[in-house]
Parts: sequence; structure tokens; C-alpha cells
Amino acid sequence: MLRPTPAFLSLALAGILQAQSPFPAAAPVVSPVPVLASYPDTPAGKLLKEIKEHSEVVARVEHLADMIGPRLTGSQQLRQAQAWAMAEAKALGAVNVHEEAYDLGLAWTRGVDSARLLTQNGIRFRVDQLAWTAATPGPVQGELLLVDARNLEELQAFKGRLKGRILLRTNPDDKRPPLPRGGGGDMAAFQAEQVAMTRFLLDEGTLAVLMMSGRKNGLSFTTAGGGRDPKRITVPSAYLPQEPYRMLLRLVARKEPVKLELSLGGTFSAQPVQAHNVIADIPGTDLASEVVILGGHLDSWDLGTGATDNATGSAVALETLRALKATGLKPRRTLRIILWSGEEQGLLGSRAYVEAHKAEMDAVQAVLVHDMGTGMVKGFDLQGRENCRGLMAQAIAPLNDLGVRELSLRTMNGTDHASFDRVGVPAFAAIQEPVDYFEGTHHSQMDYADHLKPDQLIQGAQAMAVATWELLNMPGRLPHGTVARPARPAGEATPAPRP
Ligand SMILES: [Zn+2]
Repeated sequence: MLRPTPAFLSLALAGILQAQSPFPAAAPVVSPVPVLASYPDTPAGKLLKEIKEHSEVVARVEHLADMIGPRLTGSQQLRQAQAWAMAEAKALGAVNVHEEAYDLGLAWTRGVDSARLLTQNGIRFRVDQLAWTAATPGPVQGELLLVDARNLEELQAFKGRLKGRILLRTNPDDKRPPLPRGGGGDMAAFQAEQVAMTRFLLDEGTLAVLMMSGRKNGLSFTTAGGGRDPKRITVPSAYLPQEPYRMLLRLVARKEPVKLELSLGGTFSAQPVQAHNVIADIPGTDLASEVVILGGHLDSWDLGTGATDNATGSAVALETLRALKATGLKPRRTLRIILWSGEEQGLLGSRAYVEAHKAEMDAVQAVLVHDMGTGMVKGFDLQGRENCRGLMAQAIAPLNDLGVRELSLRTMNGTDHASFDRVGVPAFAAIQEPVDYFEGTHHSQMDYADHLKPDQLIQGAQAMAVATWELLNMPGRLPHGTVARPARPAGEATPAPRP
């Protein structure tokens, strides 16, 4: 009898799998990144060539994501990433490499989360606690109730019905016109109402709150649910992927009791802690007192490894240091790399930096941030700064053939440049190809280095390095000043989601 060789077996197996696959074969992937025929003999050309041929940006993202992993602000893993980033920056020739601390409040650590139905089909499904919310006191059992109240008044209609209940707070079939986002602009009143709603839920004896992830295909999501203040009040809260959440809604709609066992294990630190920004400089020459800041946030959410949010931006900033060292180029102004923390909790690191350095803001030529994942850079949002268009067009001119052409007047407030923009500093976030960022990796359990598109990420590193170089060296200075922006009309969606 002929013994099949292992190679034959695996070939046969592959044949069977292919024959049985319900999915059509994937079309070949065409990269959107233009290929340059040659590099001009200019500083920009040298940087482009160096990064294209010797980029370490993918390796650095993989180190941050695969070796260090999720980097929640306040965690030991973020501290490890910061120590690593400082060592990298020093090895890449930066000076003045240091950390600057600010007060975070309480840290929060994810525990073990679980959920299973005690009625109907008894299935267990994925559940992810919202960060900075209270744990359940071990596994709790409660009957589900759909409570799609959108404000305190609507919530009070449920008085007397919430004790011992686990609430479904998302109603994807809600056809009512949306309420104004964020209280229609009065942030203080909106926040006070949120606290009053939490107080009401706790006083009524609510066990926990479940919300539906906005992502399809089993993707979960997380964000911060509570505060970092030791005096905070929070209800144990979690996201469910759409499939189990919609099943729970269908079961509840049958008007039969639906009972769930839920365990959410996150814990707060005993004491408030400090968080840190990493800072590294390449000193300038004749204009050394002026600074161009290039950055990304080193912190991440913790369902995945924070590969595209935002190990990518952090690695892109470090790649600029590497390319300057490799080419021996010396900028006229000082380059400052800042890897922020606390971005995901509300731009805390960049706000703290701006507050601590407000006397130096006049000396900042510009701030550039890369925080939309792996996608190629196509330009920058000018935040309404029409008066910066001319010099920004100069800054990206050497990149036009690489697909970097867009200078939109759009205001994007979702990442760390916004902390500088609001005090009048020209500060711009890169416009990037979305790839699968907002539909996939962003804040979900899918944020792993598998989703890197190396050619696009390397183009992004080229774009950020060259635009930064041009801003460091051009004779002109970008005009400062706060930009008057009309308040958003009530109910209008936020212009861009927060990376
Ligand atoms: Zn981000």
C-alpha cells in the first residue's frame, strides 16, 4: 500500500478545504500607494529614499503590539512601552529624552468578564466591560429590561422597575429623532445630567448596564465609562457584540423573563496615579529656539494590542528620528517628538503638555499628528486655518507624487493636535486612508498587527518625516491664533470620530 507523504496529505487537505470554502477567492490587493520612479537629490528626496528602503516602522509597531501589548493609561504595560520608546529615541540620536508626569486620577485594570443566559438557550457570549466602571460583586444574576431612555426625564419613567435588573441601554430600532449630542453644546449641563442618571440607576438598585457595539461581525468595542475621580459613581457597564445583543432584544420582545448571569471584573487602583508623556528632541541649528512637534499616542485601549491605535503613529514618529540619523540631515528648527498618554481618556497627555508649556507655545511652528491607523497619508486637516494653506502646501509639495495633496479646511478634534489647536497653535492631524480603521480595528478586539498594510504605513512615515522636515526648515512661520468656529447645530453629528 502506498503511504501518502506528509506533503501529499497537506496538499490533499488544502484541496478539500478549498473545495468546501464558502468564500470566493479574494481579489488581488492593489496598493493605493504611488510608486516613485526616482528620488530627487534634495533633503526630502533623501528622507523618502531612506524610509522606503530601510524603514523600521513595521518592526516597531510589531514590538509595541506583539511584545508589549495593550497600553492602557495608568498600566504597567504603558510604563514598559515608555521605557522602550525612550531607549529607542536615545539610540536614534535624540537628546533631552525624558518623561513629563501629570495627575491621571485612579488607574483601572480590566479583569475577567463573562456572560451566560440562565433562560432560553443558555448560551455564553462575549462581553467587554467599559473601562473605568465598577465591577460586579462577583457573578450577578438579573432579569433583562430594555431601557432606551435618552435623558433623565425619560429614565425617571422607569422608577420602581429597575431593582435587580440588568439593563439593555441600546435600542438599535429607535426611530425617534436624535437628541442633540452632548446636550447641544452645554457640556457642563450634559455632564451633570449624566451623573444624575447614574445616581438614579444606583438608587433604584440597577445591577448593570449593557450596550451594543457599533461594529458588525462579532466585533466588540470599549471606551471609558466612568471617571477617574476617587469620588466617582459608576454602574457596572459593558459592551456586547451585535449578534448576542440583538438576540437578547429578540428574547425580551417575546415578553418572557430573560435572565442573565454577568460578571465584570475591572478594578480601580487604591490611590490616584500619575501618567507620563515621552519627549525627545533633535536640536535645531540657526532657528533652534523654534520647535516643530511630531507625535502620536503611545497609550491604547486594551481589547486588542493597540497596533493601529496608535502604535502606528508612535512608530512613525520614531522613524523620523531614524531617517534623520541615517541621512545625517540637521534641521534648522528643533524637532520635538512627543508620544502622549491618556489620549483615549480625553487627550489628557497633550492637554497637560500644553498647560505645562503654555509660555512656550509661541515658539511652536506647527504640530503634526498621525493617528488614523495604518492607512496611507493623503494630506492634513487645516482646522479652518486658511492662512496656513500656503506654507502647508509648501510642506507637502515634495510629497505630491506620493499621493499627499489634500489640505482640507475641516476641523478634526479627535486626537492630540486638538489640544494645541485650541490655544492657537497651528496643529494638524494627517488625513489617512481608512483601510479597516473605523469599521474594524479602532477600539476593538481586532486591533492586532495583522491589520498593518506595510506599504501604506511606510508611505505614512515618509509623509510625516518630509512634511515635518519642510516645516523645520522653511523660512516662513505658520501664523498662530485661535480660529472662530460656529457652534454645531443641535443634533448634528460630530464632524469626525475620535481616533
Ligand atoms: Zn488614537
